[in-house]
Amino acid sequence: MSLQDQVAKRRTFAIISHPDAGKTTITEKLLLYGNLIQSAGTVKGKKSGKHATSDWMEMEKERGISVTTSVMQFPYKGATVNLLDTPGHADFSEDTYRTLTAVDSALMVIDAAKGVEERTVKLMEVCRLRDTPILTFINKLDRDVRDGIEVLDEIEDVLNIECAPITWPIGMGKSFKGVYNLLRDTTVLYKTGQGHTVQDVREIQGLNNPELDEAVGAAYAEELRDTLELVQGASHEFDLERFLAGKLTPVFFGTALGNFGVDHMLDGLVEWAPAPQPRDATSRTVAADEPKMTGFVFKIQANMDPKHRDRVAFMRICSGKYQKGIKLKQVRTGKDVRIADALTFLAGERDNVEEAFSGDIIGLHNHGTIQIGDTFTEGEDLNFTGIPHFAPELFQRVVLNDPLKSKQLHKGLTQLAEEGATQVFFPLRNNDVILGAVGTLQFDVVAARLKGEYGVDCRYEPVSVATARWVEAENEREMAAFERKAHDNLARDGAGHLTYLAPTRVNLQLAEERHPDILFRETREI
Ligand code: GDP
Repeated sequence: MSLQDQVAKRRTFAIISHPDAGKTTITEKLLLYGNLIQSAGTVKGKKSGKHATSDWMEMEKERGISVTTSVMQFPYKGATVNLLDTPGHADFSEDTYRTLTAVDSALMVIDAAKGVEERTVKLMEVCRLRDTPILTFINKLDRDVRDGIEVLDEIEDVLNIECAPITWPIGMGKSFKGVYNLLRDTTVLYKTGQGHTVQDVREIQGLNNPELDEAVGAAYAEELRDTLELVQGASHEFDLERFLAGKLTPVFFGTALGNFGVDHMLDGLVEWAPAPQPRDATSRTVAADEPKMTGFVFKIQANMDPKHRDRVAFMRICSGKYQKGIKLKQVRTGKDVRIADALTFLAGERDNVEEAFSGDIIGLHNHGTIQIGDTFTEGEDLNFTGIPHFAPELFQRVVLNDPLKSKQLHKGLTQLAEEGATQVFFPLRNNDVILGAVGTLQFDVVAARLKGEYGVDCRYEPVSVATARWVEAENEREMAAFERKAHDNLARDGAGHLTYLAPTRVNLQLAEERHPDILFRETREI
């Protein structure tokens, strides 16, 4: 198969959702459709307590962080689908955000009873940075949930994206009957008790087909016909171009637990979601089907076991093809490396890959030489852009248990920040060391790694920082003036960039109003 064909059949996506909306359950069903598992309920170590390997540190085991579920590749209807995991519970971190810069589309999962929740709003903002096309799955229709039209309204209002329902639910909760597909003009009937296998479904063609009235009951059929009139007036028709521009989302209803409707979404993903897209780099834009391999690192996962200091760097291939033994240049360092043992993620197993293509993710073993944002090429000097740091939302002051270890602490934190494990800030006005993160687990990981890898024993104390912004100005004079005026709130991050640490959101707002010449940025390019 040609490189063009390999690229064209790839779909690389991630799921964005608030915790408990059903991301894990959907992932499981997707693997069922990808024929990777025979029976759902076998994927996840997190809740069942099963783990593939035994040598992780306790914390890693307890929290269920696993390299194996970071990326899952499966075949579906002629496509090769890559699903990138976006850690959501305690293991939520900046990596969750950064993973979204490595996908070509995203699936938004909404709990139909809860509607749009806070984490989804935030993840959607990250998708907006690249206008990533979004599909939507409205989940848990087997429960008593909110009215569909109301949920769509909320998505349109809060997330500012047009909704194009592809399927529409008939009934809900105990009387959930199935969904009507607006594009195909067919009704697919729901059967309970098929959550663990690929469903056998009955389809009825046509909205006015008497079989429909008979199958779901005349009252439900009538209600469906009435509602659809309303829906058509209140929502948008599917438009591929607007979807690809990130302006419109196709919406599917169903129940992940009952394994119903997930396949409709997957069909939509394979049919409409984009194949690997061209990507901007410093010197030019790189097309996905260029023959030479390029890629960038968006995530580094440390093996917490001190006996295996192995870290896996996750690389998104942006062009060409990986072949065992390929020689790549790490552009930042200018060094050439031969890669013989990259990992692939078929079915959640760690396998050595022979080849991988643009759009795929491979895992590189590394001992601290690779950083987040690193570009690899077959020799060309280019760096991919659009792989940012995100402003942290949680802050703690680091306190050394042994004050003599201050030098090691600075070294360790600077390195861990480069790797993307945390962010570190050094205020201008005192000698504090402040850690920033977007998920609480990051603090524990950093403390454990400081101890294990740098011999530094530390603890955390609360600090009055609510949020941070990288600051920039058009010219140096403005910047210098701002530095004097805002001195007490300013810090340098691990890479030396000036950052405004705001004790409250209101303080940030006031600072922004008071200094209109200063740019307060929520992201910083690596
Ligand atoms: P995640 O946090 O987004 O990964 O959510 P999970 O997939 O772990 O689901 C959270 C909870 O919701 C679990 O108890 C699931 O069994 C349940 N759940 C997921 N999908 C459905 C659904 O379609 N219907 C019902 N009733 N429960 C669901």
